[in-house]
Amino acid sequence: MKEEALEYHRSGKPGKLSVEICKPADTQKDLSLAYSPGVAFPVQEIMADPERAYEYTIKGNLVAVVTNGTATLGLGKTGALASKPVMEGKALLFKRFSNIDSFDIEVDETDVDRFVEIIRKISPTFGGINLEDIAAPACFEIERRLIEALDIPVFHDDQHGTAIISVAGLLNALEIQEKSLADAKIVCVGAGAAGIAILNLLLESGAQKENILLLDSKGVIHSQREDLNQYKRPFAVETDKRTLADAMQGADVFLGLSVGDLLSDEMVLSMAEKPVILAMANPYPEILPEQAHALRGDIVMGTGRSDYPNQVNNVLGFPYIFRAALDCRAKVINTEMKLACVEALRALAKEPVTETVLKAYGLAELSFGKDYILPKPTDPRLLEKLPPAIIQAAKDSGAA
Ligand code: NAP
Ligand code: MG
Repeated sequence: MKEEALEYHRSGKPGKLSVEICKPADTQKDLSLAYSPGVAFPVQEIMADPERAYEYTIKGNLVAVVTNGTATLGLGKTGALASKPVMEGKALLFKRFSNIDSFDIEVDETDVDRFVEIIRKISPTFGGINLEDIAAPACFEIERRLIEALDIPVFHDDQHGTAIISVAGLLNALEIQEKSLADAKIVCVGAGAAGIAILNLLLESGAQKENILLLDSKGVIHSQREDLNQYKRPFAVETDKRTLADAMQGADVFLGLSVGDLLSDEMVLSMAEKPVILAMANPYPEILPEQAHALRGDIVMGTGRSDYPNQVNNVLGFPYIFRAALDCRAKVINTEMKLACVEALRALAKEPVTETVLKAYGLAELSFGKDYILPKPTDPRLLEKLPPAIIQAAKDSGAA
């Protein structure tokens, strides 16, 4: 795939984005409206009322895809410049799935104070800020401070996008297994951006803290540990369990947001009956589906990959969440909006799959069940169903 991918990026105009003009710009008259002297009038309107920027400029449909290149994909600290293909890719997805324009902004700054200040200062340009591929724990602090400082929505997709899709997938998987979230014993490996955000959204959805065991690279997060940051600390529990093997015994749910190839056969066999495994480390999941399914026939399983059923793919979320937030001029993307997106995704997975979707995946049949817990990314009904549900939640909760 390497040559093909490199050729894809360099062929024609290098890169994946370009800027288009969307007003007439041919005659002298056109130009005098587009620029001086005509352009002075919208300037004065916006000076008198900043809200008018949404009427006279691109602001209301423009999102900044912002990174500092400290956690690019699973590649780690690539630096700002090398992260640019990923950010252009994110902008491509915004445009393709919800017609949102975006600029990719790669900032060569790892100091949290200075990074926050830079984004704060450039924020007037945009209707929303999508933070991307910023390493934990700095990402938590950066997002919190920008949400506080700005009155446009700020959303770290690696946290909340992942959380929304995983929670929707998990709830549907539990429904198929005839289990309730409140009673489910949950093991989550990975206490970084994704793992922490998923657990927080699961708690909002009715999971019980005493049923959750969180693990990082040092094992179970328990109350005797003294090396925990402020984001892991709330999940520390009183327990004798120390290793992943200890934690997995009798678990109903495994959530993997860590590294590949962590789950042994014994661990999978020690889970409760009818378990759910979402092994989302990319590109190599904590266990491969063929290995898990060969061990027992009662598993519902998903990964982050497109080459297996049940892909937990963020593209099911962020285009529609920002579409909704921009269209209702939401000042924040709050929990109510995230949970509305979860429910809309769950509901769409239960509707009959259309011909268009079946064709795109070369399938004869697909229906809600063990191999179909989430909608497919190319399903055009996502744009129809998700934004209205999220906008309603924004209105009801006062964010719109
Ligand atoms: P992150 O912030 O760097 O967090 C990684 C976490 O994994 C850390 O808590 C780390 O422990 C833990 N870890 C590393 N090695 C481990 C090991 N051998 N055993 C147990 N825990 C280990 O990264 P992230 O952004 O949350 O992403 C984590 C993983 O999820 C990546 O593989 C990423 O590709 C994947 N992901 C998938 C999706 C998706 O499928 N849609 C979305 C987002 C992320 P310490 O805290 O001790 O360092
Ligand atoms: Mg990302």
